[in-house]
Amino acid sequence: MDIGFIGLGNMGAPMVQNLAKAGHRVAGFDVAGVAVEGVESAGSAKEAANGRDAVITMLPNGAILQSVYDDIVPGGRAGSVFIDCSTVDVESARAAHELAGKSGLLSVDAPVSGGIGGAAAGTLTFMAGGSRQSFDAARPLFDIMGQKAAHCGGPGAGQAAKICNNMILGISMIGVCEAFALGDKLELDRQKLFDVVSTSSGSCWSVNTYCPAPGVGPDSPADNGYRPGFAAELMLKDLLLSQQAAGAADAATPMGALASTLYKAFVEDGGKGQDFSAMLPHLTQRGFGSGNE
Ligand code: NAD
Repeated sequence: MDIGFIGLGNMGAPMVQNLAKAGHRVAGFDVAGVAVEGVESAGSAKEAANGRDAVITMLPNGAILQSVYDDIVPGGRAGSVFIDCSTVDVESARAAHELAGKSGLLSVDAPVSGGIGGAAAGTLTFMAGGSRQSFDAARPLFDIMGQKAAHCGGPGAGQAAKICNNMILGISMIGVCEAFALGDKLELDRQKLFDVVSTSSGSCWSVNTYCPAPGVGPDSPADNGYRPGFAAELMLKDLLLSQQAAGAADAATPMGALASTLYKAFVEDGGKGQDFSAMLPHLTQRGFGSGNE
């Protein structure tokens, strides 16, 4: 396929490289002037997108996505598929679909999980929204860049699935960190707490797979000085998107709101650049957020 790729950052660069390695012809563009080996450098987003079989975007936020779509959709080839893999608000995703649809393009919102490691290894999970025809058109590219692609529903459904999942993750990580911090105060051995919780009703991904306590459970960012992994500021971004969506849809998400507040305080108080599981030392070192001091 002849593919255009816009946004060659931490995620986009390794994703585009996997497409090129798989034998596709790829033209890439990034405002920062990033060049990726094996990928033709386009002079503009329009040049990267015009007339291609597929166009993929991997951008920071919904406002940028919409301005890039305003720029590139008019030059899209009818019947080609536009795939947005950025994590953005549901409304921007739907606006992008609408614009693409008016120009006769197929479109998919397809945010990912799996992080930079998954992007490099080609093992991302794609959560996709859009028509079945659009999803089927994008599928061969998902199969190269990832190991799983779920068609979640119509336009915006991929973004909705992503922020719901990450809202659970943010809330559950804080809960797990609070439990380990409380265990410390009760002089409970962390390994013993892990052994019990990971096989009891408190078990969840944040304990069993990604335990925030160093030296406990499978290898995780906690064992690596809390280097991300999944950075705290990206968790905050997703939590804020969940709150934006909850506000627009009039959904009650009180725990999501509190998790957003706690991650915002953490990011502003030295957490930026650390893994989101570093909420544990943040809680234990500063006695922060206990609500009962
Ligand atoms: P990044 O900041 O490294 O990359 C974004 C790139 O977009 C930058 O290189 C920037 O120069 C470029 N860009 C900005 N405006 C542009 C424009 N108008 N035209 C062309 N290029 C433009 O971010 P990232 O970590 O690669 O993340 C990209 C998206 O993926 C985000 O929406 C993020 O939330 C999501 N995401 C990231 C991770 C992760 O672990 N990094 C995991 C899952 C999802």
